Amino acid sequence: MQKIEVLIVGQGLAGSLLALELEKRGRKIHVVDNNPSTSSSKVAAGLYNPITGRKMTKTWMADELFPNLGNYYEALEKRLHASFHERKKLYRLFNNMEEQNDWSLRTVEIGYDAFIKGTQNVSAGILKLNDHLGGFYPNFSGVLDVKLLVEKCKEYLVSQGLYTQQQVPMSEWDFQENQLNMGSIQAEQVIFCEGPRMVENPLWTEVKHNLVKGEILDVKCSLPSNQIFSKGIFIIPKQGYFRVGSTYDWNDQIPEPTAKGKRELLSRLGKLYLDEVEIINHQSGIRPASFDRRPFVGFHNKFKNVGIFNGFGSKGVSLIPYFANQMADHICFGKKLPDEVNPNR
Ligand SMILES: Cc1cc2nc3c(=O)[nH]c(=O)nc-3n(C[C@H](O)[C@H](O)[C@H](O)COP(=O)(O)OP(=O)(O)OC[C@H]3O[C@@H](n4cnc5c(N)ncnc54)[C@H](O)[C@@H]3O)c2cc1C
Repeated sequence: MQKIEVLIVGQGLAGSLLALELEKRGRKIHVVDNNPSTSSSKVAAGLYNPITGRKMTKTWMADELFPNLGNYYEALEKRLHASFHERKKLYRLFNNMEEQNDWSLRTVEIGYDAFIKGTQNVSAGILKLNDHLGGFYPNFSGVLDVKLLVEKCKEYLVSQGLYTQQQVPMSEWDFQENQLNMGSIQAEQVIFCEGPRMVENPLWTEVKHNLVKGEILDVKCSLPSNQIFSKGIFIIPKQGYFRVGSTYDWNDQIPEPTAKGKRELLSRLGKLYLDEVEIINHQSGIRPASFDRRPFVGFHNKFKNVGIFNGFGSKGVSLIPYFANQMADHICFGKKLPDEVNPNR
């Protein structure tokens, strides 16, 4: 029988970062994942940006999440001896005159100064880029290779003997008051980080999830690779190609990419980039989102040693590091978690 303190089920970005935070605090952990060929973390574009949406406002908790985000991922690169993160300039193009005007008001609003790198009042003059109204550059933007981070984290966990590749079947659980048994593992606590598969977990049927399918394209085009472009869609330079995304579909839950998704992406891309592109890949995934766009971080009402760390939706890259710290401090030191993320809300 293998005795551990915290068992983590699921090793996407959420399970990975939570496992590493708990291990850093000296907890005896073990991670179990079925290692699927595709998952939300494996197809994610990895973009983070504090000013989002048509209204161009700071995202939820931007002040807490963003100033330290780049440092967090850089420290993780050192810990895992890998390179998966880049601070990268983002050019958010204006869609119309109204946005241009709204933005000039935003620049003088209290609390926005630190989040603005600059404003572009006329076209930046980039060949084939449709930016005749200019745009702006937010501060603290960047891109994470989520798939690579998850791979490197797995390598690290395997090297420490802290990882088992396995599908955890709910039927095998034996929940006791202070102890949980799953096969040969005996754990004091279990935290489910199952991404969209939370919907199949009978312990979390009351959690108000809201899964969202997303599709992305990898394309070749002639844009410069020193910045990310965004206008209803993003174009992220990768090594030798660009990642274009994403769609949001609340109805279609089939994991495979669709012709409809491709058409939508190409149509939106055509408004930003005025030339043909060569498509080299088309992928999709299901985002584990929630009904109110806040994650689920905390413990079960009835089973006090059963937790959940999920629901990060389309913002996993910026939300997960902060909440992995919060959850780890809660588990190790009893620090209170914010009510807004209570899974039983
Ligand atoms: C097309 C697309 C683009 C995206 N782009 C961005 C972006 O630019 N920026 C951003 O911040 N976010 C983006 N996201 C969202 C981001 O991918 C998610 O927020 C994040 O990856 C969720 O991670 P997770 O660990 O919660 O879930 P997942 O990545 O789904 O990981 C869950 C893991 O648990 C495993 N698992 C589940 N149940 C079991 C079980 N019972 N036993 C064993 N293993 C189990 C799964 O197989 C999987 O490996 C995007 C998502 C999509 C689909």
